Amino acid sequence: MIRFERVTKRYPDGTTAVDDLSFEVAEGELVTLVGPSGCGKTTTMKMVNRLIEPTGGRILVDGQDISAVDPVRLRRRIGYVIQQVGLFPHKTVLENTATVPHLLGTRRDRARARAAELLDLVGLDPATYGDRYPDQLSGGQRQRVGVARALAADPPVLLMDEPFGAVDPVVRERLQSEFLKLQSQMRKTVLFVTHDIEEAVRLGDRIAVYGHGRIEQLDTPATVLGAPATPYVADFVGADRGLKRLSVTPIEPGDLEQPPVVHLDDPLPRTLDSRWAVVLDHEDNLHGWISADVAARGKGLVRDHARRMEAWLPVGASLKQAFATMLQHDAGWIAVIDREERGRFLGVLTPARLHEALRRSTAADARDVPRTDVDVETVS
Ligand code: ADP
Ligand code: MG
Repeated sequence: MIRFERVTKRYPDGTTAVDDLSFEVAEGELVTLVGPSGCGKTTTMKMVNRLIEPTGGRILVDGQDISAVDPVRLRRRIGYVIQQVGLFPHKTVLENTATVPHLLGTRRDRARARAAELLDLVGLDPATYGDRYPDQLSGGQRQRVGVARALAADPPVLLMDEPFGAVDPVVRERLQSEFLKLQSQMRKTVLFVTHDIEEAVRLGDRIAVYGHGRIEQLDTPATVLGAPATPYVADFVGADRGLKRLSVTPIEPGDLEQPPVVHLDDPLPRTLDSRWAVVLDHEDNLHGWISADVAARGKGLVRDHARRMEAWLPVGASLKQAFATMLQHDAGWIAVIDREERGRFLGVLTPARLHEALRRSTAADARDVPRTDVDVETVS
């Protein structure tokens, strides 16, 4: 969808910002460009919507050499979100969001209806925020408006240049997860610039690690973390890359243990092969757990003694979420279900299995990388 062919940008003062760059972003793919300040990320991005012209090579969008496309028409197909959002201060949030459709000739009432939809989509209630002015919003809310405005003309391509860079870490994490959710529905082709490796790893289908004007490695987050291509990349992703891998490795059904299972309306089991059993409802959805001691001594049905289980995740959640959930609930294991909300119970993840899962992913992605991860002692 976006293709760089041997692209170079030399500024008039002699600075080579981008040096003989070739890579491709597939349709519906989100590629993060990550690297230290001044390595050419913004220059790369601005060449895609012709805010900057390359001095060598060519860029194709949807198969078309963009040097032959009128920049104004090109930009209608490309949403652009930057850090200093650039909202019009004298226009309301709704008017700001409706700007582009309006310019494209969409009728005013339709443009506003679409804008309201988009504000809703990015988590801003249009009834509450639509009539506010940008200076009546928090930084995070302004960024959301920026995203909504970029999406207003429904462009197939989005360029995002450190869009969440100016907000505090907690808000940034929220914006990131909202954006991921949005992207999983929209499947735009996205080039996303950041200097933050955590953000790059979290958002990117693939990440491009920039050195000076060049890509040092372009691959999936798991591979970049598991098998950095050069010492520079290893240094940039950080010594804690083993830990970062937790966030890009999903829980898979094969990682789970199968403890004894009882149902809410069963009589109390007198003996269990384990110190506890998982308790399910009549639809095999997770309810909670019961300890072997309580079951052995109690009277009545399982439902009279079962405890609710709050430490659970859907399959596909990251090992990092699994670890965080264990810590948050001080739980020795977490239940894994087949979808978000109360879903069918699939099994439990224990610290030992979590450790195995992390190894499994390392082995798959990085067979040739020396193992330096420290073994985890598990308590059982
Ligand atoms: P990044 O976004 O990765 O921080 P940029 O693409 O903004 O990096 O800049 C890459 C290099 O090009 C830097 O050395 C920067 O100083 C230089 N540069 C950027 N814009 C200009 C310009 N208009 N004229 C000269 N040099 C520039
Ligand atoms: Mg920049």
